[in-house]
Amino acid sequence: MLPQLPFGKRSGLQVPRTSFGGMRLPGDVDQAVAVIRHAIDAGMVYIDTSRGYGDSEIKIGKALRDGYRERVLLSTKWAPWITHIEPSDDASADCVLRRIEESMRRLDVDVLDFYQVWNLHTPEQYEQTRRPGGFLDGVRRARDRGLVRHIGLTSHWPPEELAGMLGDMDWCEVILVSYNVLNQSYAKVLTKARELGIGTIVMNPVAGGRFAENSAVFQPLLDQVGAVSCADLAVRYVLSNPDVDTLISGVNKVADVDDTLASAARPSFSAAECAAVVTFIEKLSRRSVGFCTGCGYCMPCPQEVNIPQVMEAVYNERFLGFHGNAVAQHRQIGSVPWIKGKSAAACTACGECVAKCTQHLPIPDEMAFAREHLS
Ligand code: SF4
Ligand code: SF4
Repeated sequence: MLPQLPFGKRSGLQVPRTSFGGMRLPGDVDQAVAVIRHAIDAGMVYIDTSRGYGDSEIKIGKALRDGYRERVLLSTKWAPWITHIEPSDDASADCVLRRIEESMRRLDVDVLDFYQVWNLHTPEQYEQTRRPGGFLDGVRRARDRGLVRHIGLTSHWPPEELAGMLGDMDWCEVILVSYNVLNQSYAKVLTKARELGIGTIVMNPVAGGRFAENSAVFQPLLDQVGAVSCADLAVRYVLSNPDVDTLISGVNKVADVDDTLASAARPSFSAAECAAVVTFIEKLSRRSVGFCTGCGYCMPCPQEVNIPQVMEAVYNERFLGFHGNAVAQHRQIGSVPWIKGKSAAACTACGECVAKCTQHLPIPDEMAFAREHLS
């Protein structure tokens, strides 16, 4: 049993500071069940999944048999602006209720502890969420019928705006946002949520998997703050923020659970150590001034190269030293449904993109670099 702290004030619940992310489960069902049960046996309580995470709900449902269901807080989410299960899907209360009932069948449970509005990130989506007969009304109907216990929200909305909007969200009991060593911009959202009694969950604590590997670039920082690895640095940095109630890390194997729990058991960073992390990242950012901003003005490429994605992989290699992540990121282009286009292999060095680049970057040279080092 891990120590538990209040999960905000609105939910009335408590939660350990490390939770289970169900987005990267093993493909094999038996392995997935084993790793989920290992996490629960080790003390993880909050289980995060989504209707949009492939068969994650089904695997979690199998793992929660034999008495495991009663030991967890189960959370799932969906939104029509992220994924359509049926072509007619929309943000109407009727449709949301259908999706909730479907998730419950997949999870093989008769109640969900949390249902979250998934990735609210535009004013239009917010309007669809709160209008009469809209998304929230569907979740409230499920709650009134005893199908859902608590309501939450996940968001990539610009943090300043999101922090300002939270005051109007009296229905929101927990919020899930991205926060890590490389991107601390949602710290203000976490602080505001804490003030309002909204429970806070951090996703992406290892920055898209980058900190899962070690990097020589970060070794001086690891030495300075006494972290044993980049992953240790990432987890302990997030948990050093008192506005974070819990973090979810995508689990693929037993070691992911054990490593996260080992880091959580080590001391939090002091204020001086947290400041050292911030200073280190600021210096790194200054080194990359003038590099790709991801603006996308160079697109489209006649050969369908996804130039911003290639450039991000190059950034991970050159400035952060995360070679494995950079290679994986480059190889993913066009091979996973959520990253469209082609890798640098398709570049013919035509030069059409160069004049459009807001940073005046030698893009064909960078494509050659990616082909040589990241393929
Ligand atoms: S130089 Fe390469 S990346 Fe740029 S437009 Fe031509 S083919 Fe596309
Ligand atoms: S225009 Fe330049 S800075 Fe913008 S995404 Fe393309 S390569 Fe990056």
